[in-house]
Amino acid sequence: MLERCMGTQRVRQIQRAIHQSKVTFLCLFLTVVVLRGTIGAGKFGTPEQDFNDIREHFYAHRKRVEPHRVLEEVQTTTSTNGDTSNEDSNKNTNNYEQFDVSKLFVDEGVQEKPDPNKPYSLGPKISDWDQQRAEWLKNNPNFPNFLGPNKPRVLLVTGSAPKPCENPVGDHYLLKSIKNKIDYCRLHGIEIFYNMALLDAEMAGFWAKLPLIRKMLLSHPEIEFLWWMDSDAMFTDMAFEIPWERYKDHNLVMHGWNEMIYDEKNWIGLNTGSFLLRNGQWALDLLDAWAPMGPKGKIRDEAGKVLTRELKGRPVFEADDQSAMVYLLVTQRDKWGEKVYLENHYYLHGYWGILVDRYEEMIENYHPGLGDHRWPLVTHFVGCKPCGKFGDYPVERCLRQMDRAFNFGDNQILNMYGFTHRSLGSKKVKRVRNETSTPLEVKDELGLLHPAFKAVKVSASL
Ligand code: UDP
Ligand code: MN
Repeated sequence: MLERCMGTQRVRQIQRAIHQSKVTFLCLFLTVVVLRGTIGAGKFGTPEQDFNDIREHFYAHRKRVEPHRVLEEVQTTTSTNGDTSNEDSNKNTNNYEQFDVSKLFVDEGVQEKPDPNKPYSLGPKISDWDQQRAEWLKNNPNFPNFLGPNKPRVLLVTGSAPKPCENPVGDHYLLKSIKNKIDYCRLHGIEIFYNMALLDAEMAGFWAKLPLIRKMLLSHPEIEFLWWMDSDAMFTDMAFEIPWERYKDHNLVMHGWNEMIYDEKNWIGLNTGSFLLRNGQWALDLLDAWAPMGPKGKIRDEAGKVLTRELKGRPVFEADDQSAMVYLLVTQRDKWGEKVYLENHYYLHGYWGILVDRYEEMIENYHPGLGDHRWPLVTHFVGCKPCGKFGDYPVERCLRQMDRAFNFGDNQILNMYGFTHRSLGSKKVKRVRNETSTPLEVKDELGLLHPAFKAVKVSASL
């Protein structure tokens, strides 16, 4: 009857299933018996109690990796204190999820209020930096400012706020971003400085880079070029070397367009998320001219109004370093323009919105080392604010695309060692080459293991 309704095959499947479940139940029963032997019968010996005990048993082995002794010690101190207040349990908990981290980051001490009558300054006036620096370089021949004929000594400076990010995953993306920069810099013989200290309380936020840059230039006269790069920008072309020769007569290189700055006064005619600044008196003077709109509070708010009024397309908000730079170039072109190179032949900064959806197409058609729209040097997640509470774009798109940009760049690193990400969206990797017993004969595709632009000539005296 059953066979007629359901077909022979289906009935067989059901019979097999019944048989299999009998075996499963037998196994389960045996498991219970064995576990009861190891953890005791439980208080009441009911099936429910057995189940709880088993769950506890597995849970304890899975989660608690610390030795029991430590747990017991903590429990003893809590109970002898007799204090079970929230604060106390917060103090003693071994559970990171339960611990309220915010109490670690309360600011200690009172912040000094700046004198409103004193004009803001980045530091003591220096007007002979070129002479001071030249003298130092002469006296320190082991720290030359050029590593080769067209290879300046470069320091990449980046950083983030001293506190953890305002959202739990932000710090993970900061970590990915600094790993990405370390990779590029190692390959290109560039030094890195990561700053997490607010050197000047008045210049908090996007203005924090100004006092930091000045400090770096003055403390490292051996540095010829300082490369500022935002924490939300990532290298997507690991093989592209900056065409240093092109900038031999310039002191500041930013991604941008002359017409958009000088004709349109457009606030996005350049970007200050990734730029090159030559060490010298010119740079110090530029920083002094750039800084006055920075001090937070009234000055920054009022300056924001001027910038919004004067620049094309700028929304209403406090003064930011990028608009201030546009404004400076527009209003004092004679003074600065000649030494400023607005680069757009490759992506010194690349706006993520126009790049991230084309990565697959780039992989299909091109190769690293081009730096431009075919394979962008930098992808910058402007407006995503991955470390903040709110951004200007949907969080999901920002984070997904940041992962893709990271993996796109990271594939070029993994490739050196015979691996690649399974896809641009995947953390997992797969092999692209077999292991070999003669590893030194392996040539990585891009030649990044020992790139020419990193090679150092050993001088005879060494
Ligand atoms: N930054 C910093 N300290 C801070 C805040 C910001 O060093 O307290 C740096 C950080 O590298 C960040 C950059 O300033 O990437 C500029 O800010 P953001 O990238 O958020 O601006 P956007 O590029 O979105 O305009
Ligand atoms: Mn940025």
